[in-house]
Amino acid sequence: MKANSDRAAWLQGSATLCNTRPEPRQDRHRFVLLGAPRVGKGSQAELPAEHFGVCPLSTGDVFRNAKKLLTQCECSPAMLDALSYMNSGELVPDRTVISLIKERAKCLRCGGGFLLDGFPRTVAQAEALQTILAENGTQLDAVLSYELPLETIVTRLGGRRTCPKCQKVYHIESRPQKTTGICDDCRSELVQRDDDRPEAIRVRMAAYQKSTVPLEDFYRKKGLLVPIESDATPMGTFERTISALETRNGSFSR
Ligand code: AMP
Repeated sequence: MKANSDRAAWLQGSATLCNTRPEPRQDRHRFVLLGAPRVGKGSQAELPAEHFGVCPLSTGDVFRNAKKLLTQCECSPAMLDALSYMNSGELVPDRTVISLIKERAKCLRCGGGFLLDGFPRTVAQAEALQTILAENGTQLDAVLSYELPLETIVTRLGGRRTCPKCQKVYHIESRPQKTTGICDDCRSELVQRDDDRPEAIRVRMAAYQKSTVPLEDFYRKKGLLVPIESDATPMGTFERTISALETRNGSFSR
């Protein structure tokens, strides 16, 4: 099945409509995806979204899209506020994120279903989502929680090298350069970004754990949490996702 790749209504909000709108389906699914930042959550969203034909809705994409269009169109005051937090690397305050989600509530009613990525990030956001869905007479089917041991994350991100000139990203093990330390394309000397250093990764992960553990508890208590070990390839992790959903509820199907 094909995921809805347009997402214009989600990315632009307000009155925008998607060009390609999925037919309303009886078996539509509504998922939330949880996972540590920068451990391949984006690619983990793609395969289930395609499999279930649901729309992948990322809040990070909403903000990045607004940033790209900043000079071409007017942003709402809430969006300008959100971008100033995002630019400084901080989380956008709950009140602002929730109001931007409310502006996009029609995407949560979409006949094709959805897979939310990057929202909710706090219990307050999860409660707001529950209220928005209840107002629409719907609810979540499952919360896919991708888990990776801290040491694996440190190794993965710690091996990353970036070209400061053309921004190409390498990995000392999984995507090495032809000449160690030199960009294949523009021959610049590669660097390790400050936030890819093990100390910085551990600090970021501690912050992530602090907000995510209560979120996992919130969904566990509701019987929605589906933990999935994501130390495999994207396809291997996807297969684990499908089998975890089937184990939980045999009715999950394409
Ligand atoms: P992401 O691509 O999900 O890592 O999001 C990129 C940035 O957008 C984050 O670092 C935050 O500044 C902001 N952001 C995205 N989603 C949320 C959210 N649910 N709550 C707060 N900030 C968010």
